[in-house]
Amino acid sequence: MGTVYLVGAGPGAPDLLTLRAARLLERADVVFHDALVHPDVLALASRARKVAVGKRCSQISTDQRFINRALVEAAHRYDTVVRLKGGDPMLFGRAHEEIEFLKKHFIEVEIVPGVTAALAASAELGISLTRRGEARSVAFVTPRVGEGTRGSSWIRAALAADTVAIYMGAGEGAAIAAALIEAGKPASTPVAIVESASMPDTEVTCGTLRTLPGMGRSSGGPALILLGEVYGEAVAAAPRDLRKASQSA
Ligand code: SAH
Repeated sequence: MGTVYLVGAGPGAPDLLTLRAARLLERADVVFHDALVHPDVLALASRARKVAVGKRCSQISTDQRFINRALVEAAHRYDTVVRLKGGDPMLFGRAHEEIEFLKKHFIEVEIVPGVTAALAASAELGISLTRRGEARSVAFVTPRVGEGTRGSSWIRAALAADTVAIYMGAGEGAAIAAALIEAGKPASTPVAIVESASMPDTEVTCGTLRTLPGMGRSSGGPALILLGEVYGEAVAAAPRDLRKASQSA
């Protein structure tokens, strides 16, 4: 019986893959990968059969139950099965469902962490998530809730933390801003949207919770909303559209 490795592919740039992930890909027999994984990363898996299993928000993606079953079947046929997920597998990646299903079928699972989007976005901005004197806590949240799951506590977490990274929310800026302001987050809270962090076409837009509804995105790449006082300087430097903040900071 083979082992299934849940592997973080990182935020996009192929050289942000971990060495452990690269070595596993080189010896993988089969790779089930998300839609956003860079072709250079997939190319490392030269001997593997590659299976795209979707996961691009709001587009049709492979049913989670199908993925679970395919992983079990693959583990019966192959030694090294890689499930390659964007960023880190343990953050908003439905890893738990896969781990639970595999364990139920007595299949070994190992996790290989990856660089999550919030860390790549912080690198683009050149702004610490936990700038001393301003932020001592960070929340990773998403307003997205799966069908049939319990109500979310994301607003409570976003109110409590100094810095907030909002995943899977860039298409819902208006609703997010309204919900947070209504819950008591100041409308003047600085906001940065980082699109395609770590990629050559990355873009940064800055504003506040008040202006978030009008903060557009350009290339349609994956985007993260960051909010907190630590972004105040970036907003002051370029209230509307701050491109490539890391280069000018
Ligand atoms: N497990 C992943 C997150 C999956 S949820 C991780 O750890 O990063 C998918 C969301 O992640 C997207 O909707 C977007 O909000 C964010 N994201 C992923 N890659 C990104 C990137 N390169 N730049 C900005 N945001 C990104």
